[in-house]
Amino acid sequence: MAQNETQTVDVMLVGAGIMSATLAVLLKELDPSLTLEIAELRETGAVESSNPWNNAGTGHAGLCELNYTPDSADGKIDITKALHINTQFEVSKQLWAYLCQKEGFGAPRNFINQVPHISFVRGEKDIDFLKRRYEVLRQHHAFESMVFTEDKETLAKWMPLTMPGRNPDEKVAATYCDNGTDVNFGAITQMMLNYVSTLDGTLVTYNQKVYEIERCAEGWRIGIKHTGTGEHREVKARFVFLGAGGGALPLLQMSDIPESKGFGGFPVSGMWLRCDNPEVVQHHQAKVYSQAEVGAPPMSVPHLDTRVVDGQTSLLFGPFAGFSTKFLRHGSFLDLPLSVRFNNLKPMLAVAKDNMDLTRYLIKEVMQSPEERLQALRKFYPQAKSEDWRLEVAGQRVQIIKKDPKKGGILQFGTELVSSQDGSIAALLGASPGASVAVSVMLNLLERCFNERYQSNEWRSKLAEIFPARESALKEDAELYREISTATSKTLQLI
Ligand SMILES: Cc1cc2nc3c(=O)[nH]c(=O)nc-3n(C[C@H](O)[C@H](O)[C@H](O)COP(=O)(O)OP(=O)(O)OC[C@H]3O[C@@H](n4cnc5c(N)ncnc54)[C@H](O)[C@@H]3O)c2cc1C
Repeated sequence: MAQNETQTVDVMLVGAGIMSATLAVLLKELDPSLTLEIAELRETGAVESSNPWNNAGTGHAGLCELNYTPDSADGKIDITKALHINTQFEVSKQLWAYLCQKEGFGAPRNFINQVPHISFVRGEKDIDFLKRRYEVLRQHHAFESMVFTEDKETLAKWMPLTMPGRNPDEKVAATYCDNGTDVNFGAITQMMLNYVSTLDGTLVTYNQKVYEIERCAEGWRIGIKHTGTGEHREVKARFVFLGAGGGALPLLQMSDIPESKGFGGFPVSGMWLRCDNPEVVQHHQAKVYSQAEVGAPPMSVPHLDTRVVDGQTSLLFGPFAGFSTKFLRHGSFLDLPLSVRFNNLKPMLAVAKDNMDLTRYLIKEVMQSPEERLQALRKFYPQAKSEDWRLEVAGQRVQIIKKDPKKGGILQFGTELVSSQDGSIAALLGASPGASVAVSVMLNLLERCFNERYQSNEWRSKLAEIFPARESALKEDAELYREISTATSKTLQLI
């Protein structure tokens, strides 16, 4: 392409992670005539958080994550979040099942595998919580297959590595759901990118750094630099999605939309212990989640996971959190300082002041020695040997800092879709649970930014074909939930 040539597309998606890939697929299914470009900074897609070794690959469905079911002072357990994420994951499965039925898309085994989800706790207080949580959850059809036990023989069957070598007097308990999954989010991202790139009017470009975003008569003018050749080009787009993961905040700030004001980012880095020794790996087939340490952020809940990546099974333990000023794993140490603006200074200072526990926790995590990390692993796997495990760097999570009328600023651990009032630009900020609920988040974006078309008969009937049941229907209708979940699980070869 000649330098300075300006192209025009209907939709520009910045970043080739799971969010942009999902949105591109949905848009092209709903309107095949749309012209669209996905511009990615790196040489391929799914290199940042969506890369299988940068995330834990848990198909979050509220089956094992104890932080999704908060306890209250009166002993009541709130399952709203677990249920919401469960049904959102069902919606993700519906899109993936729909795509897998298309010729040439690829087999479900390439990206999703059935792996039981277990919540494992130690000590009377946590056992009491787990039991009460189980009693509430199992009454809902989304969790009806959940089983609870304190029986050590059953626990040893569920988690053969977890019981041997443990003090026989230690009180332990677990819940077990056999319908959990491990997802290679990098593979499904790449499959969606490959699929959309075969469609007319779609371009997926790599080594493209988006460095400028400005309003223009057509919508938005986007400045792009080729990271290899240094060549600059411009693209004009009616709609822009900033699906740049940790890189979305600086781009949103560049857009200068009023809705971007006050947002800041708090990057948390991570590390895993990884084991590829088949002698060890074969004895653990589950994702085992436990309680987070006091003061630890919710995304630091420790877990021992079966990971299936490119046909190979490994074990992953962690994450061990850390602090880095980079917004992307391949980013710059200047990312955080350069994101400070007059409009987000107050929220950022308020968060720094109010989150000393988190700061202390992160410092402690960063200072951990290899022996201390092994000790943490041994709480799950008492006979773990250091020679079987190696330390690997995980992806960056940029937590959201935003304005708060009372405190000045708050730290938010979920994700947030920020869009302009005219619906011509949107950005996804934040991290967790992220990839598992990408489809619901992108459907939400379509409803917000393409509302007229979203409500049209044409889009509604196509959406109904792809998604036979959405979140609220799945929550309320037990028969419908069972029927649709079973059908999608069959198509995805999970049962
Ligand atoms: C340690 C960890 C564990 C996690 N575990 C889970 C889990 O178990 N289950 C789950 O569901 N989710 C998990 N997540 C969250 C999940 O990985 C993310 O929510 C999801 O991958 C985000 O996808 P994305 O497309 O928004 O961003 P990314 O996958 O990060 O993609 C963003 C892309 O934008 C590109 N980019 C950035 N800036 C620019 C620019 N200026 N120009 C062009 N391109 C740019 C980047 O190179 C990157 O390829 C985890 C995340 C982490 C970090």
